[in-house]
Amino acid sequence: MAGGKKATPAGYLKTYKTAVFKVHNPSHHKRAVMQHAMRNAHLLYTKMLKEFMPDKTELKRLGEIKTFDRKKELAALVKKISKRLKQHNYVAAGIRDGLLKDLEAQISSSAGLQDVQESVGSPTPTTLDPGSTLYQEALEDISTCTDLEEENFLRDEMARTAKAGQVRPIDYARFSNKSGFSLYQNPETKRVIALINIVTKNSRYRKQVTVKNLVSLKTGEFMGFSTKTGILLPLEFGHDFHKKRFIEEGEPMTAKLYHRKERNGKPCDDFELHVTFKYLVKKRPTYTWLGVDRGIYNLAAYSVNDEHGTIVDAGCIEGRTLRHVQRQLERRTADKQRRRGVVRGSKRQAHADEAVHVAANKIVEVAKKYDAHVVLENLKNLSATRFKTRIPGTRRGGFNKLLGRVQYEKLKNILEYKLRKEGFAKPILVRAAGTSITCPECGNWDKENRKKEQAADGDGFKMDEFVCTKCGHAADADENAARVIGLKGMWQRQLPKYTPGTTLAEDKKFDAFLRQHAEKRSRL
Ligand SMILES: [Zn+2]
Repeated sequence: MAGGKKATPAGYLKTYKTAVFKVHNPSHHKRAVMQHAMRNAHLLYTKMLKEFMPDKTELKRLGEIKTFDRKKELAALVKKISKRLKQHNYVAAGIRDGLLKDLEAQISSSAGLQDVQESVGSPTPTTLDPGSTLYQEALEDISTCTDLEEENFLRDEMARTAKAGQVRPIDYARFSNKSGFSLYQNPETKRVIALINIVTKNSRYRKQVTVKNLVSLKTGEFMGFSTKTGILLPLEFGHDFHKKRFIEEGEPMTAKLYHRKERNGKPCDDFELHVTFKYLVKKRPTYTWLGVDRGIYNLAAYSVNDEHGTIVDAGCIEGRTLRHVQRQLERRTADKQRRRGVVRGSKRQAHADEAVHVAANKIVEVAKKYDAHVVLENLKNLSATRFKTRIPGTRRGGFNKLLGRVQYEKLKNILEYKLRKEGFAKPILVRAAGTSITCPECGNWDKENRKKEQAADGDGFKMDEFVCTKCGHAADADENAARVIGLKGMWQRQLPKYTPGTTLAEDKKFDAFLRQHAEKRSRL
């Protein structure tokens, strides 16, 4: 029943959206249960990270091996963590899945990023501030603890906590009536109620909870059962149209429980459940190809081409802001290494994230305007070290492209999500190699196609013009690269499925494809 795999109906795409619900007036008992569980989950997360997070040298090694091998190693590590997590009974079973998911995400992102962006470094797990009320509360908890094992665990962890931090939300990775989170609706009052598995088997907080005459928002069936490891939380959602729509059309998948201490700059003491719903959108047909290139001078460049490879539209997405942000990040890293102190960079990071969102929105807007299938570079198979090598002579060294691997991955994910919401299929990923030095008119592949000129201020070189050494085709270099990426996506789509041991016929290769289409265009 829970998590049943339903096939997506033809002509539709599934997409996800998260709705925030405030927990309606939780009782003293429920507050205590939630705070207790959140602290324990937080501490267990910290403990696991300390035990399993690869050290700097190990992260560096992981960053340099092939993606395939890295994935294999990380999967083995996750298995080990999962085994270890099961030995701890400080958290309810339903919380463990989410903890494992979060740990996996944290470790794999560190392993993937390490060599690329030194400033990312190895993440320091958030700990509790000894001066904060939370810490005091946690200590209070120890003194009233009945479970000796739990007490030792808390004491150990508390001894190690030193720096300020916030308690992590509890992540529910699965919808399950008794061992995860579940959502119900009272068919008469229309009230929405969540049941979260949060109490451990031998906790003093155990209390019988009964679900009766409530409709499951996952299956639409009437439910009736009791549990001693959960609490019921009535949720507030008033007349919010969106939330209503999700509840009616969406399927609840995962949830996160937050303890909020601040709202609009003012202190508060609320609990929130952020529920992610899956829902369906109608597929949108596409007629053109939108290639996106990470620019050197702009954040990104795009080029829309029709089925003949004729440019319909092209342009750049302004990147001055990000360049500025990156400079600051570089400086910050240098400072950090010097002082080895904690530097607050969340504001700048938010700025960089915003630039990525701006780019994603622009690309979605263009895709909608021209009913275009988006094509992006596939950076996945580039090893971190290879990724780092820049084109020699690129202006003011250090960054080959304005969008680093980290930001590009972010852009890709955000784009995929935003496009999906509009009914577009996943972006096509093409091999990035050579796209910036390929001529879309004659297929000529030459480093010299990208003209290198002394910059006006004498500081480095500029390479913003593309001129084909063979046919003389000239264009803006970034826009041209975006066009080649778009055309490559188009070519890739019409290729027969690859059979191992075969080679592609000469007339089926990408450069031949480019020449064939250029010839067709000349006859139009
Ligand atoms: Zn050419």
